Amino acid sequence: MSGDSAVSFSLLHRTCKLVVLLCVLHISVTLFFYVRSMDVRFAFAQNQQMRKNPPRFNHVQTVTNRTELVSEGQNSKNAEVSVRSLEKCPETSPILVGPLRVEFKDPVTLEQIKSENPNVQQGGRFKPKDCLALQKVAIIIPFRKRDEHLKYWLYYLHPILQRQQLDYGVYVINQDGDVTFNRAKLLNVGYAEALKEYDYDCFVFSDVDLIPMDDRNIYKCFSQPRHLSVSMDKFGFRLPYNQFFGGVSSLSKEQFLKINGFPNNYWGWGGEDDDIYNRVVSRGMSVSRPSGEVGKCRMIRHNRDKKNDPNPQRFDRIAHTKETMNKDGINSLSYQVLKVEKFDLYTKITVDVGKP
Ligand code: BGC
Repeated sequence: MSGDSAVSFSLLHRTCKLVVLLCVLHISVTLFFYVRSMDVRFAFAQNQQMRKNPPRFNHVQTVTNRTELVSEGQNSKNAEVSVRSLEKCPETSPILVGPLRVEFKDPVTLEQIKSENPNVQQGGRFKPKDCLALQKVAIIIPFRKRDEHLKYWLYYLHPILQRQQLDYGVYVINQDGDVTFNRAKLLNVGYAEALKEYDYDCFVFSDVDLIPMDDRNIYKCFSQPRHLSVSMDKFGFRLPYNQFFGGVSSLSKEQFLKINGFPNNYWGWGGEDDDIYNRVVSRGMSVSRPSGEVGKCRMIRHNRDKKNDPNPQRFDRIAHTKETMNKDGINSLSYQVLKVEKFDLYTKITVDVGKP
């Protein structure tokens, strides 16, 4: 080999080595970034999964459910005790979604609602499977001939209440007959009848035509009586006046008893919610409310019901709440239950509440 060709061979050799080295470097860098991107994708997928199935047992206090499984062996009896513990649900449910679209264009059917809410038990009962609900809530709906509205209510509210992780039951209190409607008395009946079924500690009183537009508006009780329907579309998404307590409200059992429940003698439209407000304030409590944003809700438009004309006596009655509330309330409630019906999505209690 001549000197020249030896030089060019060694140059070629070095060039080849450099190329191979560059290739190895390139492959390593590519591999490095590929593996990193896999990590990120995996973490993302895990995160998505967590959103769908939030962690199950993530809070402090433990309650124990004991199930005894007794199996018999050849000569001896084996008692096996399985202990399942449920922890309290978190203070804020991790499965809330926030603002909701609420509209009443398309009709809904009870079958559809039932199939979309397979975990709701007969009578409209539900409790979370994976944690112990913080409150046992009876939802009381005063009712007469508003089946179309009730369907929308069930359609929207069941999913919301389940996401709020409440142990709840839905009670539709149906006023029998055609005499003048008495909303507040029906609410008292709902309180009394729901307590016959279950040890509820909180009562949400809701009109059948009001649907919350945000599931962060929790249908539970607070340290003060709560007004939940604070920004209704009907009033331009504002409170019509500071003392307004109509639509949807919640009171704990203790708060309800402190004000002797609701008045029984407001026949026809209006005033009973103002009376309840007066009761709350006169017992030294105040009204708590969600923010205007969270408290948005829609009302299903309708004509005024028959036999529910504005009550001309309401102004006089509201002016005397302090004097009347000790005698007129849950302590003077009388009614007759005519029928209790357990439907898939709610319990309907038909009552005779008398007449004015
Ligand atoms: C009535 C209330 C009613 C409010 C809003 C008041 O004048 O007394 O019962 O909720 O108006 O419509």
